[in-house]
Amino acid sequence: MFSLKEKSIIITGAAMGLGYATAEIFAEQGAYLTLVDYNEEKLKEAEKTLSEKYSDAKFLSVVADVSDEKQVKNYIDKTVEKFSRIDGLYNNAGIEGETSLLAEYNVESFKKVIDINLMGVYYAMRHAIPIMKKQNYGRIVNVASVAGIRGVKNETPYTASKHAVAGMTKNAALEYGQDGIMTNAIAPGAILTPMVEEAFKKINPDDPKSAEKEYAKANPTLRLGDPKDVAYLVGFLLSEECSYVNGQTIAVDGGQSNIYGAV
Ligand code: NAD
Repeated sequence: MFSLKEKSIIITGAAMGLGYATAEIFAEQGAYLTLVDYNEEKLKEAEKTLSEKYSDAKFLSVVADVSDEKQVKNYIDKTVEKFSRIDGLYNNAGIEGETSLLAEYNVESFKKVIDINLMGVYYAMRHAIPIMKKQNYGRIVNVASVAGIRGVKNETPYTASKHAVAGMTKNAALEYGQDGIMTNAIAPGAILTPMVEEAFKKINPDDPKSAEKEYAKANPTLRLGDPKDVAYLVGFLLSEECSYVNGQTIAVDGGQSNIYGAV
């Protein structure tokens, strides 16, 4: 079994959804966590709840917008100041963006999705990798999506950003494997988080629950994913035991992306 005890790990987008669920599993193991989010109120709430519940874990929360390189450098520096090293980086923060046909997509909204989902991941790797190189050790997990391995209608910037994250993950693996740094990506399918609940509201504003049921029917497991399904995979990929998996984009989707014609 893998352990994250006393590992210094940065989680972006930690205030809710997949980031928060992962922080909870890691805190249970006694990890030292830097929680990053731009939602200050939710971030404070998350840190308070977790620190009251898990006394073996340590926490640092830093308010930052991951699309701003200066703010990214700040959370990296603060992590090193507090925990002396960075063992793991979980690049999870991301947005879905608006839904619209490719040719009709608002250009500013398009750029915003790219800035957060792609540049946010790049800035974090850019500033964390030199520290990991000095340690001759590091683990990076970037959050792509099933939209990083397939097309998703009406979500061009999201799909483009997630494919780019998968590509960047391969490059980091090639360039820094020799420095003891393993870089991988995950491709979640529909996992029940606030982001996905919002998507179901867009599909069927009057009855989002029925949209959720329809979606679940199409999955081989006949259910949507639970944030914990993702957290356990990320935990392994960020552990010391993950020492020969490098440059992969691993789907966590109940097998749905294997169905011909699946979304
Ligand atoms: P969510 O909206 O529930 O939570 C995202 C968190 O990230 C929020 O706390 C939000 O405040 C934070 N965040 C967003 N933009 C930020 C920014 N610029 N700077 C700092 N923090 C920011 O979303 P989620 O469902 O938990 O998704 C997390 C990641 O997983 C995203 O990258 C998303 O694309 C990816 N993903 C999710 C699913 C899913 O089914 N939930 C599927 C595939 C991929």
